[in-house]
Amino acid sequence: MSEIFLIVSLALFGLVFGSFITALSYRSIRGVSIFKGRSLCPLCKKKISWSDNIPIISYLSLNGKSRCCGKPISWRYPLIEFFTMLTFLLIGLVYTNCSTVTPPLCVLNNTFSFLVLPYLLLISLFLITVFITDFEHKIILDEFIFIPYGLTLLLLIFFNPEFSYTNIFLSFTCAAFLLLVHLITRGKGMGLGDVKLALLPPLILGWPFTLPWLFLSFIIGALVGVILMLMKKAKFGKQIPFGPFLILAFFLVLFWGDKLMFLFGFLTLSP
Ligand SMILES: [Zn+2]
Repeated sequence: MSEIFLIVSLALFGLVFGSFITALSYRSIRGVSIFKGRSLCPLCKKKISWSDNIPIISYLSLNGKSRCCGKPISWRYPLIEFFTMLTFLLIGLVYTNCSTVTPPLCVLNNTFSFLVLPYLLLISLFLITVFITDFEHKIILDEFIFIPYGLTLLLLIFFNPEFSYTNIFLSFTCAAFLLLVHLITRGKGMGLGDVKLALLPPLILGWPFTLPWLFLSFIIGALVGVILMLMKKAKFGKQIPFGPFLILAFFLVLFWGDKLMFLFGFLTLSP
């Protein structure tokens, strides 16, 4: 019963966070403070009342049109809110099942103990924001990488210093590998933002889960790239942001890394 309460609370929390992320991803790349002022309609710049700013529900009750000027509200708002809710819901679901499964989330649960949930929610907030700014504008802001990096490093050193050496090594190895891809493809396959982003997941996932993460990132990236080319939405050599694949693969491995290890045949590498 208390588990259901936790999962539902996390999902609702995810909606609120999701709404915050829609504003954070919009404002941060425009250099506007997240703490300054109320939400404005991006179309006519009028203030939005709190009752028209309820995640997903307002979008549905307004039929996707803004009250102030009647123009369609971008679907990015309900979509970001929904996926943040889904992420938080999955964090809750996997967390409450840690007695039966062993993905990286449960390894972190053993390491960071009571801090694991607040830590994961915060990390998700940063990574979902990076996903959006890279997807929409091909921009990855340094602070959204280095703040969670510093936080993870502090927790690792405090709770399990033995892990930190391996994880830092993995972190720089992966970033170096992406830097190599960046240099070989002359920046067409990989941006420097992606190189910096690649520092973070290995630090969190550690050994051996960094392997399926890197593997999955490239598989999803290649699949999406081929699909976009077939749909003639992308041309070969034209840059598709790679950050979203690194982040999607991170969450998949965080939640189901134990099963993915098995699927990819990495199982012989013991943690
Ligand atoms: Zn308006």
